[in-house]
Amino acid sequence: MVGEWRVTALSDGFLRLDGGAMWGVVPATIWRAMTPAAEDNTIRLALRPFLLERGTQKVVVEGGVGDRWSDKLRGIYHIDRSTSLRETVIACGVDPDQITEVVASHCHWDHIGGLVEETDGVPAPLFPNARHFMPQVEFEMAKDPDPIRRGSYRPEDALPLEAAGLVEAFDARDVASLELFDGLHVRHVGGHSDGVCLVTVNEMASGETAAFWADIVPTTHHIQPPYIMAYDVNAGVSYEQRSALLEEAAREGWIGMFYHDADRAFARIVREGRRFGLGDVELIGGS
Ligand SMILES: [Zn+2]
Repeated sequence: MVGEWRVTALSDGFLRLDGGAMWGVVPATIWRAMTPAAEDNTIRLALRPFLLERGTQKVVVEGGVGDRWSDKLRGIYHIDRSTSLRETVIACGVDPDQITEVVASHCHWDHIGGLVEETDGVPAPLFPNARHFMPQVEFEMAKDPDPIRRGSYRPEDALPLEAAGLVEAFDARDVASLELFDGLHVRHVGGHSDGVCLVTVNEMASGETAAFWADIVPTTHHIQPPYIMAYDVNAGVSYEQRSALLEEAAREGWIGMFYHDADRAFARIVREGRRFGLGDVELIGGS
């Protein structure tokens, strides 16, 4: 529980990405101990959206990878959808039609790909009644990616949501924090991608605050400021923003929600001398 919100970890399966790319300049002798690599040097990563429930309001944060993949790409990324966003939402006793809002931190294919399903070649939104909030620069890039970002965005993820009239693109770049609706804020961060945002729950209320780290801190192992992915488009911005946010998270005792961590959905970030460490979060059922 985070204030009035019940927060549940969902799953859209797993994929594997190159360990070196996930760890940037960090030497393999250090990262292999934290995230073991397979023979092809890939590491296992979760695709873990979250469900926020408060009365009839049911919010999905982040959209998974989805099932619209060729056999070739499915193989390259080792996409494993033995669990899916649809199934795990239903397992919470919620019908996809009941989802009222979707919030995406950014529009890379592994973060919004699961918001569209395809039946007999016809794409349709998984959550047809939900307002879909996405950073505007991200949504524009997804619709028409430039050459250097083409590997990270797919128009076929963005266009069906736009055609359905569900997208509410927001611009959080000129404000410290933008309230999308009561109890839910986004903060523009950048670094990893041009528009990536930190999503916070209950930030302005009394009591606990939770932060969805998206790809700003992709796993609970990436909690030292220089542990920056090679995928980040601006490592300098990533370093500055991550340093400040990790410090704030430790000082304020935020509950962290982690998207790509293979094992752990929730953890706090704590100060351990000059480094950051992890603290536990009290959970109701599950782990
Ligand atoms: Zn990602």
